[in-house]
Amino acid sequence: MPKTIFVDTSRCTACRGCQIACKEWHELPANKTTQYKWGSHQNPQDLNPNNYKLVRFSEHLDNGVIRWNFFPDQCRHCELAPCKEMGDLYIEGAIVRDEKTGAVLYTDKTKNFSKEQFEEIRESCPYNIPRRNEKTGVLTKCTMCNDRIHNGMPPACVKVCPTGTMNFGERSDMLKLAEARLAVLKKQYPDARLADPDEVNVIYLLIDKPENYHEFAVAQADLGPMSKKQFLATLARPFKAMKA
Ligand code: SF4
Ligand code: SF4
Ligand code: SF4
Repeated sequence: MPKTIFVDTSRCTACRGCQIACKEWHELPANKTTQYKWGSHQNPQDLNPNNYKLVRFSEHLDNGVIRWNFFPDQCRHCELAPCKEMGDLYIEGAIVRDEKTGAVLYTDKTKNFSKEQFEEIRESCPYNIPRRNEKTGVLTKCTMCNDRIHNGMPPACVKVCPTGTMNFGERSDMLKLAEARLAVLKKQYPDARLADPDEVNVIYLLIDKPENYHEFAVAQADLGPMSKKQFLATLARPFKAMKA
């Protein structure tokens, strides 16, 4: 059974320890900050090749009360990963799954995808996660800290989280924990829900409507059936092979 991260957003204080720990473990450089130029504490503004994890900040008015939601965003390590299905159509083995942990991993071979192929891979992701390092061409995203897991350690973002927002373990245990927390929080927050728990291995508990976190808090496309683009690419594959 795959490993799973359970993210209880009701506990998140937006300290961004997880975001920093991720950069530190992966030895990713700093980005130039733009905080005061765009009116939000969310920094950087989006996921990028130097940030596999981004704590998203979202404000909205609820009956005259300002609500401020925090969402530590990262790859969901989907059970049936559309990014891998799309990548396999072009270069098999560039995007792989670790069968032991369930982590979906981007290898160095991803640098051989063209920019157009990368765009198709990014668009296939229901959570808008994949990014491309423009210098090296390699595609980037959260690795679930697969190397740490294989050495008996939890992911870096889970290890540093001081509030219990980030949890890690066997999928069955994380699902039980998520359902238990949901049952408690539902009494106070009627909109509370789990985000796509059957399809992903990074499960978020939301206490507000998904759109009050960010556009991709829940899947923006069906995870199961192939998209039209994937289907057409599948049809084209035998013809490409015949030409080669
Ligand atoms: S370390 Fe924990 S509390 Fe801090 S921002 Fe990340 S998830 Fe939220
Ligand atoms: S969240 Fe996106 S990038 Fe991550 S495994 Fe799923 S499809 Fe791929
Ligand atoms: S699991 Fe590892 S790679 Fe993924 S966001 Fe957390 S620290 Fe970063």
